[in-house]
Amino acid sequence: MISLEDLNPPRLLFHTGILLFSIAPALILLLMLLVAGIGFPLSLVAGLLTITSFQVYGLLYEKGVTDNPLPLRFSFRTLKALQSIHNLSRYTPEKMVVAMNNRKVLSAGKYDSDETLILVPHCLQNHECLRRLTFDPDSCERCGKCPIGKLLDIRDRFGTHFAIASGGTSAKRIVEKIGPSLIVAVACPVDLSLGILDVHPITTVGVLNEWRNGPCFDTWVNTEELEAALELFLQ
Ligand code: SF4
Repeated sequence: MISLEDLNPPRLLFHTGILLFSIAPALILLLMLLVAGIGFPLSLVAGLLTITSFQVYGLLYEKGVTDNPLPLRFSFRTLKALQSIHNLSRYTPEKMVVAMNNRKVLSAGKYDSDETLILVPHCLQNHECLRRLTFDPDSCERCGKCPIGKLLDIRDRFGTHFAIASGGTSAKRIVEKIGPSLIVAVACPVDLSLGILDVHPITTVGVLNEWRNGPCFDTWVNTEELEAALELFLQ
């Protein structure tokens, strides 16, 4: 299944980020109203209403009433800014974005395999392998030393598109060229979160890769999780 193992920490983090984001505009409004001669009680109510409306916007996003990921962006940017001061949670802002997004896309409906792209990072390829997979994934011999062979088996079984990206720009180019309606993307939390926020309105399911040998080197992916995502979303 998609990694939705424990949704309360990312939800809490998401709403905390929105709350913190909303404090600045609420304070600015409060001060402006005070300067304009509106009494303190009314100014305070206006400030509190501003905070509440941001929270409502966050809830509307979470419940799928709005597709616009603006609340997710607000929350992510605020948490990132504060993360440098204090580590808020065992959930990083990046993992929060992936978890909240995956939860939301569960209600996205079904897609055809030919409008679906499996997009994976090149760091999944074994570092000793000399195949130039970013140009031609099918040059893989499926030797089993890395997960690429298994991923190609999955692509063949489901009949989707498949591409290997060498970085963020390359991923964007691939998405523009193929024009999918659904992306099942494998990457680290940083790349996944930025990609998810970037490719809206394309539906994206994020699957985190595993760092068995440290970051960006001979990484791995749980192919069963990826298959489960495809079974869930494909017609
Ligand atoms: S499975 Fe494919 S990409 Fe991975 S090491 Fe073998 S030939 Fe290279």
